[in-house]
Amino acid sequence: MLFQGISGSGGIEIGQAYIYQDHDIHIDKRTISPGDIDGEIDKLRQALCVSHRQIQSVREKALQKVGEDNAKIFDAHVMIVEDPAFLENVITAIKEEKLSAAAALERVTNQYGAMFAEMDDEYMRERGADIKDVGDRVLRNLLGIPPRGVEQLTEEVIIIAHDLTPSDTISFDARYVKGFATNIGGRTSHAAIIARTLEIPAVLGLKEITSRIKSGDVIIIDGNAGKIHSCPDAELIAKYQQKRKAFFSEQIDLKRFGQLPAVTMDGKTVEISANIGAPQDIEMALIYGADGVGLYRTEFLFLGKCRLPSEDEQYYAYKTVAEKLGKKPLIIRTLDIGGDKELSYLGLSEEMNPFMGYRAIRICLDKPEIFKMQLSAILRASIYGNIMIMYPMISGISEVKKANAVLAEVKQDLRDHGTLFDEDIKVGIMIEIPSAAITADKIIQEVDFFSIGTNDLCQYTLAVDRMNEKVSYLYQPLHPAVLRLIKNSIEASHKYGKFTGMCGELAGEPLAVSVLLGLGLDEFSMSASSIPRVKKVIRSITYNQAREIADMALSMETHEEIINCSAVMLKKLGVIDTGGEL
Ligand code: PEP
Ligand code: MG
Repeated sequence: MLFQGISGSGGIEIGQAYIYQDHDIHIDKRTISPGDIDGEIDKLRQALCVSHRQIQSVREKALQKVGEDNAKIFDAHVMIVEDPAFLENVITAIKEEKLSAAAALERVTNQYGAMFAEMDDEYMRERGADIKDVGDRVLRNLLGIPPRGVEQLTEEVIIIAHDLTPSDTISFDARYVKGFATNIGGRTSHAAIIARTLEIPAVLGLKEITSRIKSGDVIIIDGNAGKIHSCPDAELIAKYQQKRKAFFSEQIDLKRFGQLPAVTMDGKTVEISANIGAPQDIEMALIYGADGVGLYRTEFLFLGKCRLPSEDEQYYAYKTVAEKLGKKPLIIRTLDIGGDKELSYLGLSEEMNPFMGYRAIRICLDKPEIFKMQLSAILRASIYGNIMIMYPMISGISEVKKANAVLAEVKQDLRDHGTLFDEDIKVGIMIEIPSAAITADKIIQEVDFFSIGTNDLCQYTLAVDRMNEKVSYLYQPLHPAVLRLIKNSIEASHKYGKFTGMCGELAGEPLAVSVLLGLGLDEFSMSASSIPRVKKVIRSITYNQAREIADMALSMETHEEIINCSAVMLKKLGVIDTGGEL
């Protein structure tokens, strides 16, 4: 059977499906009969026992992977499953309210979680997240659902899930995850972005794939075409084995472009950088030929933990990347949490419109202690390389001034303590909200550079949720409105002798590259694996041709027209032989 979704990350794999059930745990809320009470209490005790064993084993693994300090998190988990008061509260709910063990456990976990989340003390708030984690584990053991996370995988699989949060995806053991497919999400969901970093195929927006495929089914995932084939026959498997081989040899062929400079045929050079989410991503970025890092998504340092990373932890991460890059630029984006990236330990409440709510710089300005800690870590690391600071989700000049005032305070504090940092460190903002793009001429006077975040800029300009597959047909990053905002931002920066880069996914799309080059974009930052292809496009045209394509694009009425025009031009010039993708 064939399922058509949205291509999230290229590549082809054939393997066994693994249904990753993270959501929709159904708990029967009906009351139980008095005769069932003892049985439910026994089940609860057994589930606690199993959970205890699992936590000990996860702790062992964590000890080997991330060291004693991080492994200590699991000591807190052990304490919860061993806590007699916790057990007593659940038993009371079973006995007095005649709830099943699962319903009673959920009730007590939620009560504890809410109580801790509201505490002022940060340490205590963290304990709330621990209780939720442990409650979830015990609940799964009670209901016979595999534990959250895929770290317990022992063989290669293709993950099938309703949705994958960034925390889920960072827990992947890349040795076993050959690809993934989800019911919801689109090309710029963070799950897709991480798949591109891991270089595994991903197909998103498949609507109900989780109910159509079972764990163990053989499937083919075609990330290039956004397709999943379930239970394929031998003929189809053979066909895809061929395609897979061809894909790999094309990748190898393209790789040689990575090490060449991104210079047009008439001599204009632009910078091609990589987007990274963790210090270890820098290795791949350099292998693929990145001239620097145009976006370091620091929030991944904050995700998948039960507490905030300390200033030193952050400092070492930033320093590691800066040292590996040497003189090459490293743009560190300050914390961009919120939207689809939750931090359970911050105790943030649920929102109706998370992408338009309490997010990124808004949180940082509201919680200056977190912001200052990060800025201090970045500044301390700045003497080890060519670091720049970038604020996300800026909507107007006042936020920039406020953020810069905090930065000035942190700098002064470091000076007072005799701590060295790069006094000339450059500061920029992401252009991802239309209001910032429209007022770019004002904002640029407060900063050194722009980087256009088209993933969000597109969703805010066209009012189309980047995660919602039902409206993905409206997600058009080359829509004339988006293009005009891009043009406006680039021109404003050039007027003041400053530069504009782009770190949204559009920068790595071959069909967009000529248009963006023609608009005068100075830096293109993308998933490392896209670099060779983009360099190939840039090296195959002249700047004049790119300007012509951009002028034509600006005169057009729709996204489709612009894509077609770019595809026709690039085909004529022999740069691409297929329609490309966008
Ligand atoms: C963007 O919005 O384009 C961007 C690069 O940021 P993120 O995808 O992390 O929201
Ligand atoms: Mg963004």
